[in-house]
Amino acid sequence: MSSPDVMEKLVSLCKRRGFIFQSSEIYGGAGSVWDYGPLGVELKKNLKDRWWHAMVRARGDIEGLDAAILMHPRVWEASGHVAGFTDPMVDCKACKARFRADKLEDAQCPRKPSKHPGEHGDCELTEPRNFNLMFKTFMGPLEESASVVYLRPETAQGIYVNFLNVQQASRQKVPFGIAQIGKAFRNEITPGNFIFRTREFEQMEMQFFVDPDGDHMQWFEFWKGQRMAWHQSLGLQQDRLLFHQHTPQELAHYARAAFDIQFDFGGTLGFQEIEGVHHRGDFDLTRHQEYSSKRLEYVDQVSNRRYVPFVIETSVGADRTTLAVLVNGYREEAVAGEQEGRVVLGLHPSLAPIKAGVFPLTKKDGMPEFAEKLSNELRPHFPVFLDESGAIGRRYRRQDEVGTPFCLTIDQQTMTDGTVTVRDRDTLAQERIAASSAREYIAARIGHLA
Ligand code: ATP
Repeated sequence: MSSPDVMEKLVSLCKRRGFIFQSSEIYGGAGSVWDYGPLGVELKKNLKDRWWHAMVRARGDIEGLDAAILMHPRVWEASGHVAGFTDPMVDCKACKARFRADKLEDAQCPRKPSKHPGEHGDCELTEPRNFNLMFKTFMGPLEESASVVYLRPETAQGIYVNFLNVQQASRQKVPFGIAQIGKAFRNEITPGNFIFRTREFEQMEMQFFVDPDGDHMQWFEFWKGQRMAWHQSLGLQQDRLLFHQHTPQELAHYARAAFDIQFDFGGTLGFQEIEGVHHRGDFDLTRHQEYSSKRLEYVDQVSNRRYVPFVIETSVGADRTTLAVLVNGYREEAVAGEQEGRVVLGLHPSLAPIKAGVFPLTKKDGMPEFAEKLSNELRPHFPVFLDESGAIGRRYRRQDEVGTPFCLTIDQQTMTDGTVTVRDRDTLAQERIAASSAREYIAARIGHLA
């Protein structure tokens, strides 16, 4: 199945089952902004928890941070965003649409969607102009230039400006890192493809500070490997992931090396960046030193040296990776002996929003009460869904479609020996286990957080 089909089907499934809704839908929707519903918020939270666990909790050399979205406006002058966080934009004088000049091959001509902008005979594209992607607003009661602030377009700057605060408070020694998850905003010229490119999104970023006279390239390679392994551990298929090395044209002037991790979204989107791993040298800290007139040097107590560390950055989008996980997991399959096939979201059990469905086979003989008691026992440990209505096959399908890895069914035998059947989403295999061991059984199969 090609990706446009999958994307369309996912948009509809996500709305119908409560993963993702268009923002402000009753007012006609806000452009390329999305709200996560009950299942979506669990899925994205599970993804973020896995990142936080791998990057912060499981490591002794990375500290967490939650910096504010609004920052001093000088931050964005120092970072280069005020002068240079721009994308080249072109207008079509014929249809009045705007496009990113460097992504025309990803865009459709509004009048002839089978063509790219500029390809249709009537298209009249202007010369590219630079468009700054930062959202501006005002701090305080006066709407004047002195009170302009920006919604942060990336979380990284909150880490740089707190570099010494964190280092001194935690007594970390170089090499060490600071990680944070948070919202970022970009006034994208051509957002789209569902949650792939939006104007409000979440980033999970880690900045790793290393000795410029030490083995910084080895650390860069280390983080490249770690980050690729993390995406694979989410269940993203190996042949849908690759490294793209930035070409000299793509490489920022200060960067010593940069690789994107790309995922194959299929169809017209194809391979696209989901994470960037960048060797940023000492650019950021040096610029903040200059603009703030505050020293941001690390003091190495052993060698008695003061220096501005180099930074290796890993920067991944929580929403874009959520989309990758959804695209990767979506499948339609025939079911032996049944006319209707099934839709399955093959999510890694640790990411699945609901871990187990609990079904009383019928509404009599104490089965509903047993099922309710079992659900209540399991719920404090992981999300479960108690479903008493409809044929058992339909109940299975409803859980398959939202990626629930296990379904527990309470039947006649349960009432005599206390066992339940566990049905596996992927293999469809069923086995009987004691209801009292359901919690350990499922916890073991969900796997450890990392
Ligand atoms: P692109 O080239 O796709 O615009 P970028 O190179 O500007 O991305 P970075 O600044 O490196 O992206 O941001 C790191 C990550 O943040 C990206 O890999 C992506 O996962 C995510 N991201 C960036 N912009 C958006 C957006 N508009 N919507 C959703 N996620 C985004």
